[in-house]
Amino acid sequence: MSQQSEAETVEPFDAVDVIRAKRDRGELTGEQVDWVVDAYTRGVVAEEQMSALAMAVLLNGMSRAETARWTAAMIASGERLDLSAGLSRPTADKHSTGGVGDKITLPLAPLVAACGVAVPQLSGRGLGHTGGTLDKMEAIPGWRASLSTAEVRRQLEDVGAVVCAAGADLAPADKRLYALRDVTGTVESVPLIASSIMSKKIAEGTDALVLDVKVGSGAFMKDRASARELAQTMVALGTDAGVRTVALLTDMATPLGLTAGNALEVAESVEVLAGGGPADVVELTLALAREMLSAAGVHGVDPAAALADGRAMDAWRAMVAAQGGDPSASLPTARESDVVLSPADGVLARLDALAVGVAAWRLGAGRARREDPVQAGAGVELHAKPGEEVRAGQPLMTLHTDTPGRFARAREALEGAVDVVSAGSVVDVPDLVLERVGD
Ligand code: URA
Repeated sequence: MSQQSEAETVEPFDAVDVIRAKRDRGELTGEQVDWVVDAYTRGVVAEEQMSALAMAVLLNGMSRAETARWTAAMIASGERLDLSAGLSRPTADKHSTGGVGDKITLPLAPLVAACGVAVPQLSGRGLGHTGGTLDKMEAIPGWRASLSTAEVRRQLEDVGAVVCAAGADLAPADKRLYALRDVTGTVESVPLIASSIMSKKIAEGTDALVLDVKVGSGAFMKDRASARELAQTMVALGTDAGVRTVALLTDMATPLGLTAGNALEVAESVEVLAGGGPADVVELTLALAREMLSAAGVHGVDPAAALADGRAMDAWRAMVAAQGGDPSASLPTARESDVVLSPADGVLARLDALAVGVAAWRLGAGRARREDPVQAGAGVELHAKPGEEVRAGQPLMTLHTDTPGRFARAREALEGAVDVVSAGSVVDVPDLVLERVGD
């Protein structure tokens, strides 16, 4: 008779039982949730088992209690930072659920820092059609994404804003699970998105958090009701964890601003910091800045003034330089460009965010696999936005890439992306900020 080794760990649950329970619409116990997240992180629950469970969660959902426990288990899978400890000013972070042309973090972090609140922005890279903040910042010559925790703290105190890569020890269960969801069609689940985002944000230890929940074709949440449910779930998770959390639901049917692509978006952000830039980028930057200041308990400070008088630009330059970047350096540009023309005279009624995001990605601005490089200069520049009059043959977009072989597939992505209606038609352009969730 074989004897069980003393060192062998006896697991308290069986992955198949947990999968079956969720498949059959049951509610997992707290112990089951703790175990399955921990056992997956340890490699005891196999990738195929976690994919089956993620699909069961996507189809059958999770209760508030399960989602909260799942979030806590993901936080417990790694280290917990307290980036607000010992700082002379309060902290506030912002997280966007992901969109096209969403460069808001770049002007927002230095702007909020210039108004007296420290911003620890631990960010990720883009995958698929949504861009990633680190890819954008890396278009700046010399800029370094990896910082030690000591460096993050020092920069928060000295400069007030840090945009850097989240360390490998911050919610490692989410890193594995997110990569798995990305290739198993299980991203678009409210409890899985909410726990993924909030585990990282709670683990970083910010005092306050403002969520930008995107709604529309270029977002994970295509309709307002599911975006609202996601926002409410995340606000409840943050509040229960002692983080003052509010969310804005914002439109992502149309790309933000006039650029989608890494260096293109940095240049547009610098325009905003210089007091110009597209009206929608300025509007959303200021709306989120006001929410961050208020959530951090700072009242009576006008972020529009800090944008207009150059204080936000000074904070940007200091933030870039502190991470080795040269804020005065020229940004990379793509070697080749190609122009998409308006098919008719009239009013631009629709410019589809998803199509523009996929085109930018195919031009080389994004990556298909985590390890792929991105082209800093690649992307799409828009020359008109919905509601504006256009003439047949006028440039609507310029496509940029280093690899001209990519133009054809980018153009394919843009087929059907644009509607031009007859001149004089009234076009219904949705508000940018649709709704606010939280106290
Ligand atoms: N962003 C995340 O960090 N996680 C998700 O699941 C979706 C968007």
